[in-house]
Amino acid sequence: MIEGLRHILFPEVCVACHRLLDAGDQLLCPDCLAEFNPFPGADAGSSALHRVVREHFGPKAAPAFAWCLYPYRHAGRLHDAMHALKYEGIYPLGALLGRKLGELVGSSPCTFDAIVAVPLHPLKKIERSYNQSHKIAEGVAGVLGLPVLEKVVERHRYTGSQTGLTSTARRKNVQDAFRPGKATCPPCVLLVDDVVTTGATMVAAAKALRDSGALSVAFAAVALTEKE
Ligand SMILES: [Zn+2]
Repeated sequence: MIEGLRHILFPEVCVACHRLLDAGDQLLCPDCLAEFNPFPGADAGSSALHRVVREHFGPKAAPAFAWCLYPYRHAGRLHDAMHALKYEGIYPLGALLGRKLGELVGSSPCTFDAIVAVPLHPLKKIERSYNQSHKIAEGVAGVLGLPVLEKVVERHRYTGSQTGLTSTARRKNVQDAFRPGKATCPPCVLLVDDVVTTGATMVAAAKALRDSGALSVAFAAVALTEKE
């Protein structure tokens, strides 16, 4: 009764299509989730992410292991959901997508010491009030039962948006944007981000993590931009 009244007074809508959610659905409706169209299995997402990083940065930059949930286009329901997560304050969506990503990572035999989110520059964090990748990392960490480490890498250079930049410009934009943080990084970590386009950000953050003590850095991203 109270739950029914709450639904009438504060109807919950899907963050991507804004239709009313059924009781039991969280943040996203089943139609939108179906339209997200995940990679068909962990191997497909993994090879797609590996391939993109190798193409742009060569085999040496390729991560030890990689996971990715969805191919990403600059239109459609997944785009709307990621926009809501990043710019509209719908941060609980990060934990939800992070749990899905954590289940994918957890289906492999790989183990890690900790999870690390790609950090935002402190000014951008103030601007946005939260780091969407950290929200995703918390979801991943919850499933895997691991801590999220915040002080092992920091973003010390304020970089503009990567959107619309060429591969070379992306690399220049984030090169040296990260440096080791105050804490030493454990040997084996999983680096988490929201959307990967060329991998420039993750490659640059992984380098700082290795400078901070990591021996192996694996990548996990919610989505990977498809070539258009
Ligand atoms: Zn929807």
